[in-house]
Amino acid sequence: MSRLHTVSDATRRYLSTTRPFLIGDRWQGADGGTHIDAIDPATGEAIGRFHEAQQADVLQAVAIARQSAEDGRWSALTPAQRQNVLWRVADLIDADSQTLAELECLDGGKLYAPTRQYEVPHAAETFRYYAGWCTKMPGHLFQPSVPGVEFHGYVRYEPVGVVGQIIPWNGALVAAAWKLAPALAAGCSVILKPAEWSTLSVLRLGELLLEAGVPPGAVSILSGKGRLVGQMLAEHPDVDKIAFTGSTAVGKQLLQAVQGNLKRLSLELGGKSPTLIFADADLEEAIPAAANAIFSNAGQVCVAGSRVYAERAIYAQVCARLSEIASSLIVGPGLDADSTLGPLISAAHRASVHDIVTRSRTAGTQVLCGGEPQAGVGFFYPATVIGCEHGAVPAVQEEVFGPVVTVMPFEDAARAVRHANDSIYGLAASVWTQNLSRAHTLAAQIKSGIIWVNSHGIPELSMPIGGFKQSGWGREHGEEGLMLYLEAKSVMIRL
Ligand code: NAD
Repeated sequence: MSRLHTVSDATRRYLSTTRPFLIGDRWQGADGGTHIDAIDPATGEAIGRFHEAQQADVLQAVAIARQSAEDGRWSALTPAQRQNVLWRVADLIDADSQTLAELECLDGGKLYAPTRQYEVPHAAETFRYYAGWCTKMPGHLFQPSVPGVEFHGYVRYEPVGVVGQIIPWNGALVAAAWKLAPALAAGCSVILKPAEWSTLSVLRLGELLLEAGVPPGAVSILSGKGRLVGQMLAEHPDVDKIAFTGSTAVGKQLLQAVQGNLKRLSLELGGKSPTLIFADADLEEAIPAAANAIFSNAGQVCVAGSRVYAERAIYAQVCARLSEIASSLIVGPGLDADSTLGPLISAAHRASVHDIVTRSRTAGTQVLCGGEPQAGVGFFYPATVIGCEHGAVPAVQEEVFGPVVTVMPFEDAARAVRHANDSIYGLAASVWTQNLSRAHTLAAQIKSGIIWVNSHGIPELSMPIGGFKQSGWGREHGEEGLMLYLEAKSVMIRL
């Protein structure tokens, strides 16, 4: 049954019309009026719809972004002016947090309480964080060593120009904020493409950007298909950079698409993040945290702790307690206050999650709980714990992106590190131990972009995050996140 009656009037009003996409300062529908239904994954029903951008719309958005990048309507504002606009965006997100959170739940299958309490405020904080960078842009002075001639040298950092940003559906609002805030702080003009499975909160964010004073043309938001809008942005010669977050498979396709004009490319891709639990860890804290690391957002999190490795002495205890927590989760729609495990984003995604579990059963594993799709409406999948003695298992090797965790024993720290690094991915990891020396040693030995010790999945805007190996290229957050959108230019002045 539709959950629309449970949301605010403002959200219902927002959903009552086909949402247009944004080009410059114009909200428009596609030629021919093609649209995509927004499906609530908790019911499988359409809760709204949005226009689907076509080829002509992409061309128009790129032309306007190019014009905006050339005439400096955004990049030539003073740093303080840009800062103030970004700060206003943050305030408007806070003011609109109920509608934004409701849209994330209805369209993206999220749980309402954590979305309203953490994710929407985090999106606002992302704009505040990068607002601060506007007045602190990097630059360097040098004294060149040219024999017999004196030079004054400096490096200035300039906006890359027109940026195409392509984001996934899991946490659409936060993903959009992580992309837009640093690019706008750097002075770029942006065309953002949300994922077709979770678009509505991003279109709403577009309204807030204009209201905050982002000049028309500095941001366009094109709802539509990846194969058309995303692909065209990646191939277009007037786009200077693509910033992509999504699957490793599509990331690899983009390598081909961007080669026409060798545009800059940054990639935030898949993960298969290990959680290493040593016998000396505070297990009262570590095991529930390991459960949270994989089951929050139903495992649809890039840094989800999908591989737990437990020291042999505590292996049985970790399996039992994880299974107990998994079984106690209340599967249900994100807008129901009782729910602690929401749906997967689509029927197709649930089928792919179940396929990996099914293939893992025949690889000598033990499914300790869950493992069968939930009957009835919605795309629910139960929290699933799989015990395994070796790593040659699909659920250990492949990114599941669902509430499925494997648990494997290890004998000593060296073998724990080998297990952790036995993956094509290298996005994140956590280590649970009371031994500080071991924590530092493992932090150096594990190949991943971020390591949490005695915690997992804590987002921190001041610290870079991104992938080793096939988890990506480049880092978001912090100064590194800003540098993705800047070109270095050396200037040598002969004195
Ligand atoms: P996806 O790769 O299927 O889609 C991501 C985006 O790319 C969507 O907007 C989609 O429309 C677009 N797209 C699809 N085909 C395209 C093409 N040929 N050219 C250009 N764009 C195209 O990923 P998804 O299923 O939406 O998201 C899940 C994946 O995202 C997981 O692998 C997850 O690990 C990853 N992810 C990574 C991070 C990170 O920070 N590393 C964060 C969140 C999600």
